[in-house]
Amino acid sequence: MPTRKVLTVASSEGISVDIPYFEVIGQRQGPTLTVLAGVHGAEYTSIAAAKEFVAQLDPSQVSGKLVVVPIVNILGFWARSAFVVPADGKNLNRSFPGKADGTFTEVLAHHIFQNFIVGSDYLLDMHAGDIPEALEPFTIFEESNVEDRSLVMASAYGLAHVIRQSTAVRVVAGSTCASAADIGIPAIIAESGQNGVLDRNAIDIHLAGVINLARTLGVLDGEPFAPRPLTTHDGWHWLRTNRAGWWNPLVATGARVKAGELLGTMSDLWGDVFAQITAPEAGTLLFQTSSPAVSADGLLVGLARD
Ligand SMILES: [Zn+2]
Repeated sequence: MPTRKVLTVASSEGISVDIPYFEVIGQRQGPTLTVLAGVHGAEYTSIAAAKEFVAQLDPSQVSGKLVVVPIVNILGFWARSAFVVPADGKNLNRSFPGKADGTFTEVLAHHIFQNFIVGSDYLLDMHAGDIPEALEPFTIFEESNVEDRSLVMASAYGLAHVIRQSTAVRVVAGSTCASAADIGIPAIIAESGQNGVLDRNAIDIHLAGVINLARTLGVLDGEPFAPRPLTTHDGWHWLRTNRAGWWNPLVATGARVKAGELLGTMSDLWGDVFAQITAPEAGTLLFQTSSPAVSADGLLVGLARD
């Protein structure tokens, strides 16, 4: 049985949470792999896959060390909140490496970073499309001096699309993955699932990915599966609306689109279209907001560059 442990995180504002996690110390030498899930507390497929990964683990098959934190953002999980930590409304995956004496999300990021990311040889952070978000499975890694090993991790996870984020066009700053890469730890974010649905197929995709990753890194016994075809994308565009309105998406998630292709429209509450959202260049639509209600500066589409 993996050892059950608890990390307590308390901020100076008086908020305190207990975060359950699992640890397996292998009887043979090997690297340390840390697996995070639930950084966004309503991305249930990633949480379910982390839980199932632990439940089916045989510690005698582990070399090195395996740490699994199924729900990092406990407050977001209980509140069913999309993207943010309800204590202060901040997005945990934009807050790393955190602050020892900040608001609750910054303090949480600091403790997760110091206790789980620092000291790891490899970091996997599992996500999904959040409650208002449709998503095609993909992995992300950051430009860094360890990016070759991050790409090995992404390939081992086995999803069809891999995005390399250069530091120059880092659309997501303060992520787990970026903070790890910045201190020389190979890391990926893996995404499967969408819309707050506990979808069996999306969980299985994550579960197969984490098992194959652990085998590829030598943390878990067993032969990795044969390499799968993947498309590597050099960065992406995150398309937003500057004005709040009704979002009407016109292209299916996962579709390849041409430069200039119409992806959807924004209209006001009278029904008058005020913006046509088009592809700035050719690419693959990996996620999009599925809820029509989008606020000013709201995110609409994640378009991976071809
Ligand atoms: Zn997420």
